[in-house]
Amino acid sequence: MRLQCTVPGCPRPAINDRLCTTHYTRRGRSGRLDLLPKLSPVERFWQHTDKNGPTPASHPEYGNCWISDLGLAGNAGSGYPAIKVAGRQVKAHRYAVEQASGSALNAADVVLHTCDVPRCVRNDEAGTYAVGERLLPRWGHLAIGTAADNIADAIAKRRGRRVGHDQRGARNGHARLSEAAVRTIRARCLGGETQTAVARDYGVSSRTVNAIMRGALWRSVR
Ligand SMILES: [Zn+2]
Ligand SMILES: [Zn+2]
Repeated sequence: MRLQCTVPGCPRPAINDRLCTTHYTRRGRSGRLDLLPKLSPVERFWQHTDKNGPTPASHPEYGNCWISDLGLAGNAGSGYPAIKVAGRQVKAHRYAVEQASGSALNAADVVLHTCDVPRCVRNDEAGTYAVGERLLPRWGHLAIGTAADNIADAIAKRRGRRVGHDQRGARNGHARLSEAAVRTIRARCLGGETQTAVARDYGVSSRTVNAIMRGALWRSVR
């Protein structure tokens, strides 16, 4: 006589540990015999989002990144995480903008990352993002533009990086420190405090403080 699966109502034969294949496998995966409640796409999206990501070098004024650990979109080399919605793969950053704006994107819309972090999906506060003369609608780190805006933005950022060694302090738009703060940071480090401790007080990385002390950043401030 064959043993039946011990889960009430299950008609399948027991294969292992008095459970059928289905129930045995399910218990192995989730530690439980019933099905886990199915999450909606939105719930799944936020379950895979870490809101404590790093603060980006590009536009730190919009706060730290929110990092999605969803699997990458199927089209190889895209580098963007994606979420399955009604059987379709939607790139996570596009999904984030649709959630924030409340309307679907057109196929021609390009979602720009102000932070240049492909896994970032930060979509909280609404604002604008300037690319050349154009002001694009923005939510958190994400802005809606065109393919041309995306290229113009990338070129502008590269130009910003190239002049890195004599960026002019507060005017470069990437700065989080005031000129007064820079002077105090210098004085404290020269006074013998560690760069790490001073960096912590100002909410910047110790690399930033180190760059200030080497003269690689904020050289224009005396
Ligand atoms: Zn069973
Ligand atoms: Zn970001």
